[in-house]
Amino acid sequence: MRKCFNCGEELPPETEHFVYEDEAYCTDCVQAKPYTAYIYELDGEFIGLSENDDVQHIEEYEDEYEVAE
Ligand SMILES: [Zn+2]
Repeated sequence: MRKCFNCGEELPPETEHFVYEDEAYCTDCVQAKPYTAYIYELDGEFIGLSENDDVQHIEEYEDEYEVAE
């Protein structure tokens, strides 16, 4: 019988659930939180996603560029 690996709740067939590292988890144990991601385009052409490292988005406070004297 399939059970939630965290709380032991039974997960019969046709039950919404999550699978993490090959173990099943019920929807009470896994919190799904909204998450905003971005698609980056350059002149309208896709160049990357905010979720991977193809494009680095440097915020003002992170930018350590120094102007050479
Ligand atoms: Zn559970």
